[in-house]
Amino acid sequence: MVAKKIQQIFAKVPEVKYGYTDISYSSFSEEYRFALVFAVPYEEQLNLDSYTEERFENSILNARNKLEIILKDIEIVLKEECIKYYIPPVAQQNEEDLLAVFSFKYAAVNAGLGWIGKNDVLITEKYGPRVRLSAVLVDYPFETGRKITESRCGSCNRCVDICPHKALKGLNWDINALRNNLIDYHLCNQKRSAYIEKHGRKNACGLCMVVCPFGMGETI
Ligand code: SF4
Ligand code: SF4
Repeated sequence: MVAKKIQQIFAKVPEVKYGYTDISYSSFSEEYRFALVFAVPYEEQLNLDSYTEERFENSILNARNKLEIILKDIEIVLKEECIKYYIPPVAQQNEEDLLAVFSFKYAAVNAGLGWIGKNDVLITEKYGPRVRLSAVLVDYPFETGRKITESRCGSCNRCVDICPHKALKGLNWDINALRNNLIDYHLCNQKRSAYIEKHGRKNACGLCMVVCPFGMGETI
């Protein structure tokens, strides 16, 4: 019944990809055994020719608004069904380890939505990395998706080559890879943070995303 109601929410936004995963790997697992995770595609699917930092930032903001509306609908259903849930914050806890309390990306991989690219973000077959992720932790046994355990980036290296700061290491991800194997996260964050004074926010650098052939009808 609840799965059906959630299906109806996503039927209204068929472009949004979603799935469920067991989160027994997570520190939240004692309270919430499963997560619903979904990926909202950016309205503007930018490539390198159409990319500007402002357009990329706007895409993120628009997707975030859409995501909030979907989250509200999901909350209504979970409340109606008296299912305990928690929406983890997207923000990183601090500027040192730069980790969120719950990784949407790892949940998405486990739910079968995509893999982690050489750019350290979720890559979906349909949109590449041009999606915004969210997750809801639930105390309810939903039918889970099939976990993706290996990268499909192959020999593509476009994101690695385009990073102006050489923050990406060029390794193909697998399910056991650590973030540090793929990216110098501090370097990327430091370079993007250099814009805070000028723009009032970190630079939304999307170069390593807009260059990705996945989602652009290209083959690698
Ligand atoms: S976001 Fe920009 S700085 Fe960071 S890894 Fe990607 S291209 Fe490099
Ligand atoms: S640009 Fe190439 S290597 Fe980078 S994430 Fe996309 S497919 Fe993978």
